[in-house]
Amino acid sequence: MIITVWGCRGSIPTPGRPTSSYGGNTMCLECQAGDTRVIFDMGTGIRELGQAILANGTDLTRPTHILLSHTHWDHIQGFPFFDPGFRPEARFTIHGCEGYPWTLAQILADQMAIQYFPVSLDHMEADIDFKGLPPGHLDIGPMRITYMHMNHPGLAVGYRVESNGRAFVYTGDHEPFREPLLDKRGALSAEDEAYLERRFQALVDFCRGVDLLITDAQYTDEEYPDHIGWGHSPTSYAVRLAAEARVKRVLLSHHDPDHNDTVVDEIVARARRLLSDLGAETECSGAREGATIEL
Ligand SMILES: [Zn+2]
Ligand SMILES: [Zn+2]
Repeated sequence: MIITVWGCRGSIPTPGRPTSSYGGNTMCLECQAGDTRVIFDMGTGIRELGQAILANGTDLTRPTHILLSHTHWDHIQGFPFFDPGFRPEARFTIHGCEGYPWTLAQILADQMAIQYFPVSLDHMEADIDFKGLPPGHLDIGPMRITYMHMNHPGLAVGYRVESNGRAFVYTGDHEPFREPLLDKRGALSAEDEAYLERRFQALVDFCRGVDLLITDAQYTDEEYPDHIGWGHSPTSYAVRLAAEARVKRVLLSHHDPDHNDTVVDEIVARARRLLSDLGAETECSGAREGATIEL
């Protein structure tokens, strides 16, 4: 599998020099296995991916699959600028969580409604099919894909992708499981603690042994207490997940829009120290727009 990072910024794009090293486009990843391409999320990074797809003379009649972790703006806002979507010969299947009173098609059409955007979803001439996630797994070409619900406001999932003996996990947006209970009940009972630990261990199992974990690590540990309930993880939590799941490599992602390149460098340095303190052999770096990782 070849994974390319087209966008790794969280929340809102951050153009400009202070963020130019890690990049300013919001979340979009591409995974290629043989001649199968799967795109994860449609943040603003998908605009350049769309241009690359057209420049490479890709056969657009072969269906491309797009898997959404969830439909918050920073994961769908690039879609109206995805040029292959305007090609009548192109075929796409967009997969995502169902459970809202709105369908995926409706959610994506709504962000292109006339009060927000001049071009409606109907103007995208590609053959676009929308699908909820099936129970169990999804097979796309040589990739077997499973998913798990994450702790994030609204419906959100993370994906585990396996192909040819290699595996990676993309968590999408995720916050430590502790938050919802704390919010509702104040102090936690021993039972609550055990419940939360079981949920964390299920996530550890989901990530177990992967070659690459691309995880939400938006906040520093110092920032997190002021953002509980916002749906994102502090550095030490991302580190604990990577270490307990014994992943080979972790990419910290969904960089906070207020974190310039120097701050992200500091977060990565701290994560490496924490991993070393835990005796983990996991390699750690910050997700960087344009990076390609071969598994
Ligand atoms: Zn996000
Ligand atoms: Zn989100």
